[in-house]
Amino acid sequence: MNEPTEWQVKELWEWCGLNSKHEFVPIGFDGMKECKKCGEMYPNPVRSHCPYPGIDLNNLFKYAVPLLDRGEVQVYPGKVSYAIAQKGDKYCVHSHKDPALALFWAAREVLHE
Ligand SMILES: [Zn+2]
Repeated sequence: MNEPTEWQVKELWEWCGLNSKHEFVPIGFDGMKECKKCGEMYPNPVRSHCPYPGIDLNNLFKYAVPLLDRGEVQVYPGKVSYAIAQKGDKYCVHSHKDPALALFWAAREVLHE
């Protein structure tokens, strides 16, 4: 497994409780609103949905790791990195050159129903 598909990314973020709906909040007195998640403006958003966060270590540690009993990445620069994910009795070690993708696949494995 290498690059995740858009669908696999979307799936993981949804398991983490994220959705792609805009969350508009008023920013003035003229009815203008701004999505606090992506910055799109209402009433004329460019997209109909918020983009999901990208797969990087910051986002994974922010949204996915808190759901795990254990989530770790061992980074060996220039070599393959290892990610360890555990939830309950599910345990997965995944290796990948990109530490974020190692963690992505390990987290997917144990968060999957
Ligand atoms: Zn938005």
